[in-house]
Parts: sequence; C-alpha cells; structure tokens
Amino acid sequence: MANITQNKTAVPMLDVKAQHEPLKEEIKQALKDILDSGQFILGPNVKSFEQEITSYFDINHALGLASGTDALFLSLKALNIKQGDEVITTPFTFIATAEAIAYVGATPVFVDIDSYTLNIDVLKIEEKITPNTRALIVVHLFGQPADMDEIMALAKKYNLKVVEDCAQSFGARYKGKPAGGIGDAGCFSFYPSKNLGAYGDGGMMITDRHEVYEKVRLLRNHGTIAPYRHGFIGYNSRLDEIQAAILRIKLKHIDEYNRKRRELAKIYTSILGDAVQCPVEFEDRTHVYHQYTFRTQIREKIAGILKDNNVSSVVYYPMPLHLQEAFNYLGYKKGDLPESEAAADEVMSIPIYPELEPEKAEQIAKIILGALKG
Ligand SMILES: *Cc1c(COP(=O)(O)O)cnc(C)c1O
Repeated sequence: MANITQNKTAVPMLDVKAQHEPLKEEIKQALKDILDSGQFILGPNVKSFEQEITSYFDINHALGLASGTDALFLSLKALNIKQGDEVITTPFTFIATAEAIAYVGATPVFVDIDSYTLNIDVLKIEEKITPNTRALIVVHLFGQPADMDEIMALAKKYNLKVVEDCAQSFGARYKGKPAGGIGDAGCFSFYPSKNLGAYGDGGMMITDRHEVYEKVRLLRNHGTIAPYRHGFIGYNSRLDEIQAAILRIKLKHIDEYNRKRRELAKIYTSILGDAVQCPVEFEDRTHVYHQYTFRTQIREKIAGILKDNNVSSVVYYPMPLHLQEAFNYLGYKKGDLPESEAAADEVMSIPIYPELEPEKAEQIAKIILGALKG
C-alpha cells in the first residue's frame, strides 16, 4: 500500500492551528482590545455574542456559560429537575450528558440507541417512562439531529421537559428548525474541538422560555438579583470576554465550516458506502459531522493501516455510559443495552475538519477500502 503522507505532515483528527491561521490578525486585535479595556467578565463581547446567537438561531434568549456541561446542569436546575426525579437519556454519548443529571440529584435512565443514527431509539423510550420521569436529555450525536418530532410528542404526552445536548451539533437542522431550538433548552459547548470551538472552555444555553432564561442568568452568577443581593444559591459559570470575542469572530464562519464538513462526509460516504456502515443522511435534517463515524467489524486492522499511513483515527465511544464505573450505582450490567454495546465495539471516527483537503479525504477513504479488501 502506498504511503500517502510520506514526507508530508500527518493527518490529525482535528487541526485547530489551521483554523486559527486565517483569523489570527482579527483575533489578535480583539484580544488586544480586551486587554486594554480591562473588562474580562460579563462585558460587551459576551452581550454581543449572546445577541448574535439569538439572531443566528432565531430564538428569544441565549446565555454564555462556562462550559457545555454547565449548560446542561444549569438547564436541568432551571427546569426544577431534582432528587428523586428520573431523566431519560442515551448511554452512547460523552459522560457529561449524564453527569449533569447526577449533579442535580436526579437518576439517569438509559434508553438504547438506533443502530444507524447512533441516537436514542425513540421506539424504546416509552417503556422506560415511570411516574418519576420528569425530563429527557436528547443528544444530537456527532452532529446528527435526533428524532425530535417523536421526542416532543412523548414529552407532551407525559409532560416531560426536553433538554437538547447540542455540544456536537452547532448549526445542525431538523425540519428547518435549529438543533437546540426545539426543546425547552438547547445546550452548546465551545470546547476547542467542537464545530464552533473557543480557545479554552465555554458553553451556551439557548431557550425561547423567558423563565428558564431568567433562572439560568441568575444561576450562572451566584444568584445575584441586585448588586450584592443573592436570591438563592447560585454558581460561578460565566463565559469570559476573551472566549466570547474569539467565538464572535468564528461564528461568522460556522456555516462555511459546517458546509466543508458535509462535503468531506460526502466524499467518505461515496467511497465507503458499500463497504462499511456509514453515517446516514436524511432529507429533512442537516448533519454537521462533528465526527465522521462508521461501523466495521475490523476497526483495529483499519486503524493500524491508517496509522501506518500517518492518519489518525479514534473510537468514540469505546464504552457506553451504563457500563462505566461512575454509574455502577445504577445497577446496569452488560447485555442491558445491546445496541449501544455493539456500537461501542464497532464504531470508529476518522479525520473530518473544515481545513482537511478533499483530496486527502479521498485518499483516506481509499486506504480504508484497501484495508477492507486486503
Ligand atoms: C463536549 C460534550 C459535552 C460537554 O461540553 P464541555 O464544554 O466540555 O463541558 C457534553 N455533551 C456532549 C455530547 C459533548 O460532546
């Protein structure tokens, strides 16, 4: 097999430096302005960024927060989810989704996934609903919107709150609506590797509901209802000015970034579609490919051959949450959620980021094809 990257740089999973390069003068200037202003917390950049986000999503409210994890946690708090409540979610996600449920004292209830979308299987939700079920956290995993119509119908029928975990799906759309703008609250992460990535930690909650917005606005800043007056115990969870300024610059490019991710995905699927189980595309949804994740029985072999060619690959996620030690106390065992367990054994993610050249994606796909045949 020809070594495509010989004498060239390796292909990483993500190249944050390449994204920074064309923006660096604009970012330097923005940072200089902040350093000169001396205003670092809840200043004009956070305010403007929140306004720009509300127009981007055509939603009433947006709040900059310290992280995506906090966005989930504070949204559940604001929706009054508490000890004794059950919150349904997927076990095939990053742990933060379920940690947020535990933070408010509620119990995560895991529902198995659909083997094609890798999102929660909406046909399996109803059987897990009990008199204690209060909410659902829906994850649009890897950028693929979940089945929101079915989820909202169940939420209505059983009077459940819906929090959308959009940490991987900034800009994704479902039947014309933005992921995050459908449930009671949409939670975003600006961790550097996300589709819209900051240069440190950051997060955001969006909502159309004024009371949810008001509650999270106070929760993020120590329950401060007036200067040095605290209505209740809150937290320190603010997006900072420096991250907001960087995110404002990147927000102008997010649609282009996502468009390029979708183009690369198209190349991968066109070459690999008959050979492995590729991500599915629906006509009424826009997948934004935070990851390009496919399923195969021989991922170790493929990963090895990619590595020989200097191409990175990663397994997201090798262990579903119901089998994690952190959730031993919930009493799940192997075999309880077979689709999630099978996915954990078969998935692999390959490089996809806006700066990856289409020719490289084509070469990577061909290496994988070769590995499957060889
Ligand atoms: C990254 C991520 C989070 C957490 O976001 P942070 O900003 O790192 O706290 C939550 N859920 C999912 C699905 C994620 O990928």
